[in-house]
Amino acid sequence: MADTKYIFVTGGVVSSLGKGIISASLGKLLQARGYKVTIQKFDPYINIDPGTLNPYEHGECYVTVDGRETDLDLGHYERFLNAQTTRANNITTGRIYQTVIDKERRGDYLGKTVQVIPHITDEIKRNIKLLGTKNHFDFVITEIGGTVGDIESLPFIESVRQLKWELGKNCLCVHLTYVPYIAAAKEFKTKPTQHSVKQLQELGIQPDVLVLRTEKWLNHDIIRKVALFCNVAGGSVMQSVDVPTIYEVPLLLQKQEMDVRVLEKVGLEIGPTPEMKQWKDFLNRKTNAKETVKIGLIGKYVELQDAYKSIDESLLLAAIYNDRLLDLHLFHSEKINDNNAAELLSDMDGLVIAPGFGNRGIEGKFVAIKYARENDKPCLGICLGMQCMVIEFARNVLGFEEANSTEMARNTPYKVIDLMEEQKNITNMGGTMRLGAYECVLQKDSKAWQAYGKELIQERHRHRFEFNNEYRTQFEDAGMRFTGENPDTGLIEVAELPDLKWFVGVQYHPEYNSTVINPNPLFVSFVKAAIENK
Ligand code: GLN
Repeated sequence: MADTKYIFVTGGVVSSLGKGIISASLGKLLQARGYKVTIQKFDPYINIDPGTLNPYEHGECYVTVDGRETDLDLGHYERFLNAQTTRANNITTGRIYQTVIDKERRGDYLGKTVQVIPHITDEIKRNIKLLGTKNHFDFVITEIGGTVGDIESLPFIESVRQLKWELGKNCLCVHLTYVPYIAAAKEFKTKPTQHSVKQLQELGIQPDVLVLRTEKWLNHDIIRKVALFCNVAGGSVMQSVDVPTIYEVPLLLQKQEMDVRVLEKVGLEIGPTPEMKQWKDFLNRKTNAKETVKIGLIGKYVELQDAYKSIDESLLLAAIYNDRLLDLHLFHSEKINDNNAAELLSDMDGLVIAPGFGNRGIEGKFVAIKYARENDKPCLGICLGMQCMVIEFARNVLGFEEANSTEMARNTPYKVIDLMEEQKNITNMGGTMRLGAYECVLQKDSKAWQAYGKELIQERHRHRFEFNNEYRTQFEDAGMRFTGENPDTGLIEVAELPDLKWFVGVQYHPEYNSTVINPNPLFVSFVKAAIENK
């Protein structure tokens, strides 16, 4: 295909309407037609990346293969498209300003006053186009974070306006808005949508496609009214109705021919409607699954819907590939203790010990791990979860009473988890962890090896601490096996208790590498063990 086509997805009325899912679904539909598609997210905050934001602010921090800490929407993009994103797929206002200010200091703008327009908008546009030209994508879908009308997203919206002008037919704007149902009046209300589109128009952008987020299907009159007031053809007004799973959204939009409207507008041939066979097979498996598998997730952010997004989705995918529905129970690690562990956890088929940072809630994780170990309950520890498995083993099996990670207790007599050598001189906290994909060699016949079915794997990371290899022999003599290692550094990636049914801790994050078409084998194997344990 000759020119890259650029699609912008903006949102109006309220946040949390699911721009990420709409972007990912449209991407999926275009990809199913044979186009090379990527999706990027622009976040209007000043942080360089979300790496230093806590989950209360931002939900999960997703990590790309090339080691960028990003918005969780990139997780949706990867799970839907089954394609990796990179650092170029998530840009923040902070990053844009940093580049422009660096250029200014270098003297690149010598003699000029540096301004939002054109310098900031030029840098935004450069980042949008970079993805298309460098990687030869047919479609670059750019999701603009926030809501139209926010002060902070104005430079991004202005850049979209300029690009629409510059790129003509090769550029279009999809605007997602909300149509609330007012129960007292028994009516859907389109006024918020009209206002939101008007606001976009005032900023110089005429949306090409509207997606109305609604709880129930809207009738034809409402669609006609929206089309009329918003200068959009009736056929270009889509509905995004609540569905049982986000993975149904691509089919929902396909039925309304959203991809066809997009192709018409950018002047591409329509061709036959793709079958989406693999996708439908997955959904059918979900529909046909009747029994459930009960998984307990132990973490300290259980009240936050998005804190463990990729873990939740990976478990859901793994359950469906085991023909089960996921029955996920979240346990607050601060509320688990020796007295209530059995009562709380005995009903679970398997336990996941969540990743995390800092001391809060850590003791509850040890209790849950002890319970899993002593009662032979399938247990998967991820990152901090794996480190906790090591500490619990040190304390309760090896008898190293105050064993800990130096992250939690700097002067512990048993530093079984310790700061990585390369981390010791680091003073800046942003973007300096061991991040992104690294290789790991698995030992034959281990649980991990059985899961992946191969020796050499690559998984993503986000940590500063590691297993302290000085203790290795003592752990091994007491029955813990270290079955995965980084081939270059010897860093321990996987710890297992081979005498138990399924007890595996991984220093890496398998949840960042699990898609609808390609679920992560470790999750699939863990859920299988949990089902067998029922
Ligand atoms: N806090 C731990 C470390 O930095 C684990 C991090 C995590 O769970 N992502 O090593």
